[in-house]
Amino acid sequence: MVANKKPKTLEEALQIRASEETVVYAGGTDIMVDQVPEINFLFINGIESLKHIKDKGDHIEIGAGVTYTKLLASDLIPKLLKDSIVDIAAPALKNIATLVGNVCNASPLADTPPVLSLYDARLVLEKTGAERELTLDEFMLGLKDTAIEKDELMTYIRLPKKDFTDIYYEKIAQRKAASISKISFAAAATIKGDTVEVFRFAFGSISRTPLRLRELEASIEGRKLTDVKADIETIMAQCDEQIQTRDGKRSTGRYRKKVALNMIRDFIMTLGEKEEAE
Ligand SMILES: Cc1cc2nc3c(=O)[nH]c(=O)nc-3n(C[C@H](O)[C@H](O)[C@H](O)COP(=O)(O)OP(=O)(O)OC[C@H]3O[C@@H](n4cnc5c(N)ncnc54)[C@H](O)[C@@H]3O)c2cc1C
Repeated sequence: MVANKKPKTLEEALQIRASEETVVYAGGTDIMVDQVPEINFLFINGIESLKHIKDKGDHIEIGAGVTYTKLLASDLIPKLLKDSIVDIAAPALKNIATLVGNVCNASPLADTPPVLSLYDARLVLEKTGAERELTLDEFMLGLKDTAIEKDELMTYIRLPKKDFTDIYYEKIAQRKAASISKISFAAAATIKGDTVEVFRFAFGSISRTPLRLRELEASIEGRKLTDVKADIETIMAQCDEQIQTRDGKRSTGRYRKKVALNMIRDFIMTLGEKEEAE
């Protein structure tokens, strides 16, 4: 017997999570295509306290009920995250789908996790009387597999503020918009004077969780920008060796690899040339 619940408060929602097995329903845009068998849905879209975007000083707090439309309209949301949202589906879907839903769905094809990874986003999981924060790597374990417990809800995403001077986002898909990614690429850097202080990039759609090459990133940080650009072929050889791409439904591994390398090269070679990013 299906008994859907629509709590008005977070406390009520957490009590329901603690006492019965439920599938959380935010915008429902992933769930509705997933063909979930008879099950109790816990609708969280009636909980007003989860619909805010707040400036918390060193970070921005995004509630689990915040839709893409609201994120795109907010001055608090960094451009790089907006760039990853703007081409997701059509406006009608953006009016109901949530960022938290995109993360909790744990799809390798999701467009926002690469950006959240670059921002060191902290994912807040709450149950009655307790809260914990996980990084994206700790939360996304694999395809549709996450670290969430049955009695928990993801309530917020906390996005630390960053002083990136350069950002880059590209989504390659069959069409410009309303299309699932063949590969997505998010990158960010902080250049001070001629020094690359922060350098990071992440790919979506080529591995089960966003792909970062953290050792390579660290080896570039602290170097002179001119030296990094002069060393481009060595860096590209390392990327070529470390990025593994497989054939998939939407494109071949060879195509994805070629595009991935082109995007990294373009990001590095245009570093320091773009307008202030954030
Ligand atoms: C036509 C179409 C086009 C799409 N295009 C794109 C695209 O271009 N890029 C892209 O990345 N995605 C795309 N999607 C997928 C989907 O719209 C997004 O992943 C969206 O962000 C999901 O948000 P939602 O609120 O609808 O999640 P829901 O469907 O409500 O939930 C998704 C999953 O997360 C769980 N969940 C949701 N909220 C919570 C919570 N607070 N705590 C714990 N678990 C939770 C649910 O139980 C479910 O397992 C598309 C979907 C459709 C139908």
